[in-house]
Amino acid sequence: MNHELRTLNHEPSVYIGIDIGATEVKTGLVTRQGTLVSKERHETAKIASPAHFLDILNETVHRLLQSNALSKQSVGGIGIGAPGWVDYPHGIVRELTNIPGWRDVPIVIQLQTATGLKSFVDNDANVMAVGELIHGAGRGHENFVCLTLGTGVGGAIVVDGKLYRGANGLAGEIGHMILDLNGPECACGARGCLERYVGNRFIIANALRKLEALAGPVHENILLSLADNRPDKITPKILAEAAARGDALSLDVWRETGHYLGVALSVLVNLLNPECFIIGGGVARAGSVLFDPMRDTAARLAMNQLGKTTPIMEAELKEDAGLIGAATFALTCLEKAC
Ligand SMILES: [Zn+2]
Repeated sequence: MNHELRTLNHEPSVYIGIDIGATEVKTGLVTRQGTLVSKERHETAKIASPAHFLDILNETVHRLLQSNALSKQSVGGIGIGAPGWVDYPHGIVRELTNIPGWRDVPIVIQLQTATGLKSFVDNDANVMAVGELIHGAGRGHENFVCLTLGTGVGGAIVVDGKLYRGANGLAGEIGHMILDLNGPECACGARGCLERYVGNRFIIANALRKLEALAGPVHENILLSLADNRPDKITPKILAEAAARGDALSLDVWRETGHYLGVALSVLVNLLNPECFIIGGGVARAGSVLFDPMRDTAARLAMNQLGKTTPIMEAELKEDAGLIGAATFALTCLEKAC
């Protein structure tokens, strides 16, 4: 048995984290110390409705506890991270951007009734920021901005060690910061939003445009050969690999992506003067090819000399950041205001 589970007999030893994603839903047991003990995954597309989701979740919780020889009494609570608009004070998922059928779902009360465990829900970027605050790159910081780069761009603002949610829980929509009023149309209805340049699909689209414009023999291109000569197989991961091998086209794509992010960060520096930025999500794994231009642009555009030195750090919690964040979010909600 996990050491952290064995030593804590008189207080809740684990928290359940649920990370609802557009492709999969992950459920896991996480210790107070932020260690993921075990997890289960379910394909989001196979979950027919919020009611079906609750059934699956109830069974999953039961199975996870059983396979780790834990009772319900050893669970402090359940935290959920949902990708969309979440009404945190009322525990309601108002709308999920990429998952149809979720509108005004009172998930907290439903989960509590089904499992008998205290539950909490917030936006996925917010719970990830809590994970980084307690167990990751945010340790020791009270004021920072967290960005998660993936299909969309999630944002979370931590002020004085707490999440800043705004009047209606809508704060932190950094992905929809407008960079160009005449830019391409965004799913939110505006034009030229940050997400429209640095979201997964748009990074790939940029690479494909550059590939089409290539003058020389395309088969010699590193990026294409890494994708088995199939442009439709290009992913941000492959694009990062090609850049690491010195592929000029891929480096260009990352330079542009980093530049757009840097513009957004400079606006945030001037607006909030945070101690640091923490950047996570799959796209952030590209590493220095993305971070270097991002840092250069942010430093160049920030107004104040001190602002120019704001550290831009990689998130520490990697693929399970959502799960660990959601469980840690439940812990913080139970132990203090969050
Ligand atoms: Zn937008």
